[in-house]
This record gives sequence, structure tokens and C-alpha cells, in this order.
Amino acid sequence: MANVLFTNVRVFDGTGAQPYNADVLIQGNRIARVSRTGPGMSTAGLTVIDGAGATLMPGMCEAHTHFAWNNAASFDDIQRMPTEEHQLWCAHVAKVYLDHGWTSCVGAATAKPRLDVVVRNAIEEGLVKGPRYLAASQEITVAGSLGDETLPHIPYPEYSFGQIVSGPEEMRKCVRMFLKYGVDSIKLNLSGDNFVPFAPAETTWMSDEEVAMAVKEAKVRGKRVSVHARSCESVKQALRHGCEVIYHASFTDEEALDMLEANRDRIFVAPGLSVLIKLLYEGDAIGVSHQKAKEMGYEVELEAAVKSLREMHKRGVRVLPGGDYGFSWAPHGTNAMDLQYFVKYLGMTPMEALVSATRYGGQIMRRPDDLGLVKEGYLADLLLVDGDPLSNLGVLLDRSRLLAIMKDGVFHKTPEVRDARSIRAA
Ligand SMILES: [Zn+2]
Repeated sequence: MANVLFTNVRVFDGTGAQPYNADVLIQGNRIARVSRTGPGMSTAGLTVIDGAGATLMPGMCEAHTHFAWNNAASFDDIQRMPTEEHQLWCAHVAKVYLDHGWTSCVGAATAKPRLDVVVRNAIEEGLVKGPRYLAASQEITVAGSLGDETLPHIPYPEYSFGQIVSGPEEMRKCVRMFLKYGVDSIKLNLSGDNFVPFAPAETTWMSDEEVAMAVKEAKVRGKRVSVHARSCESVKQALRHGCEVIYHASFTDEEALDMLEANRDRIFVAPGLSVLIKLLYEGDAIGVSHQKAKEMGYEVELEAAVKSLREMHKRGVRVLPGGDYGFSWAPHGTNAMDLQYFVKYLGMTPMEALVSATRYGGQIMRRPDDLGLVKEGYLADLLLVDGDPLSNLGVLLDRSRLLAIMKDGVFHKTPEVRDARSIRAA
């Protein structure tokens, strides 16, 4: 781990402050110094990176990641991938995230019991390249809901990407299995989803007794519960039971919004808008016409989600980017589209969208004092970006514009290096 000095960079620090010119010193895996008045130190022994006015910003955090989704067009195609290939796929995808500037990812569910924990452990051991990762369980669901892919004549649970439970004791057993495997979070499917005709988005499926048991068991081990909650009732159910991460939250009413606001310092919402937007407007590419998408309920849901999320944002609820990339219509690596969706659909400023990808990212990673800011003492997860993301969020979608990617003080993508002497002479 070399000590690195970034000179001549525009620092977007993630706090919401306007960018400023500074030099930034990295020692080991931490940001040692942010100097607005030049380095004021000897550059001997440092790797000096002349940013030439590029933007230095915190690495981004994807709040709703599925490494196991294999860029296919259906849940079936995900589940049919044999375990060995699937594990390698997850390792491959982990690197894709880091390649695109996502230095942290929050696992939102995996497709077979141990895929997420195995890839997280491999990243931490340095066996594979990838972001900091919080590993998820499979989606835990109930018969007939999202995640139950069994058929009357094919009743095998392995056929489903979810784990199907019935009643609190089965829930306890299932949660304990995932805790034993070492997950960081338990994922519950509280609502249905318009992608599955038998359980649309506005339906709610899990009993309070089942949710309560999952939360109780997860909390015993200090783990969190995240939920797939599109329906209004499922959002309220999640909040009633103390679930911390709410995915989607499309449908709300005044009571749900009040509950979200009352819990805003404790919860995170990651809507995963890409599914709604892509299927509604670009579904033709995978054989879902605009008319068909409307019939599936996507127009109604997008309209509701935009209304709900705009209100949440106004009320100070943390809304984070990421969500359900890894389908054919929104492959892994295109996740930074979410920032543009936040501006276009939710009324965020580009600054707010970037803060949600950085500062809030550190918070959802449970490391608010360590991650998500360019600040002295913070971990050196950094991007050097060619251009100004505040004036064009699109630069974050373009890998070639990410001049350098650093995770934990180590370059994943190394920029062109000029030595200290050439900098002084310049
Ligand atoms: Zn998801």
C-alpha cells in the first residue's frame, strides 16, 4: 500500500458542500489530509497523482445489489444456473461493480443460500476483486408470493429463488440457517411484484407473526432485516416491525408517509426504479411492449412510486440509489442511471443524488464515521472522475471517465502517474 498524494483535484467531499480545489494525501488505507492550500509537505516517498482538475469523490455505494442476478430476463433463468457456475458469476459481477466505481454494495438478496456470503468472504480474503459487501440471505417468502416458483406438478423448493416458509417456527428455522451461513442481512418479501402475475405489487403476503419472528431472530445476532415492500400495507408492516432497509416503497398513503418520516433516522429506502422505467419505456427489447407493461401494472406503479418517493425525499427520508440491476433490460454496471432517475423523476438536485450515493452509502454500510466522505480519517475509497458529475451525472456511467478507482487505499484502477519532480517542474 503506497502513500498517495492527489494534487490539483476538485474535491466533491460527499457532505453536500460545493466542490473545492485541494490536495488529498492517502496514508495506508485512510485519508490522512485534505489541504486546500497545497500539499505543504515533502512529496518524497509519495506517489503523486496530478489530477489536472479532475474531480476526486468518494466511491459510490449501491444500496440494493443482487450479484446473483445473471442479466437474464426472468427469475427462471437466474434460478436454473447451476450452483458452481452461479458462484463464479457472482465473483465476476463483484468486479464489474468495482470497475464502475461502486466501492460498496449492500446485498439485497441472493439466489441460492450461500452465494452472497461466499463471494463476500472471497473479496475480504483478496481471492476476488469486488466492493465492500454486505451479504444477504435469499428472499424469504410464503407460498404463492414473489419467490415461490414451484408448480403444482413441480413442487420442489429448489426450483424457487426464494425460501418458502409457513408460520413463525419455519421462519425461525430459515432465518437461523442464513445466520449460521454468515449473512449480514435477512431479506423478506412482504409484498408481491408486478413481474409475477399471481402476486402483483399491491398485494401483501406475510403474516405479522412471521415478520416479527424474523426480526427477533436477526436482531439477536445484531443483523438487519431488509424487505421487498411495494404495497402500502407492506411498507407499514416493515416499519411496525423495525425493519431497517425498505426496498421499493412504491405505494404509500398519508399514514405510511408519516411512519416513514417518523423513522427517517433509522431506515433507508432504495426504490430500484430501473425495473419500472425500463419495462415501461424500453421493454420492447425483451418482448414487453408498452401496452403489455401497462397491463402488468407498471404505469400505475411508476406513477405511485414517483409520488411516494418525492414526498419521502421532501420529508428527509434517505432515498438511495441502486436496485435490481442484473436483468437483461438493466445489466450490472449501468447502476449509475439511478442518479439520473432521481433527478428526473424524484426532483432531487444532482448534489442530492450524489450525496445519496456517497454519504448515505457510508450510513447504510453501517460505517457512517468511516465511509462515504472525502474527509481526514475516513477510509480511502475514492474515484478520480474526468469531468464534473454535478453538471453531468452521465460521466459516472462511462467507465473511461473514471480515471482512478481506489478501494481501501489500493488502486483498483491506476491512473497515469507522474513523479513528484515533474509535478514541481510543471
Ligand atoms: Zn431487489
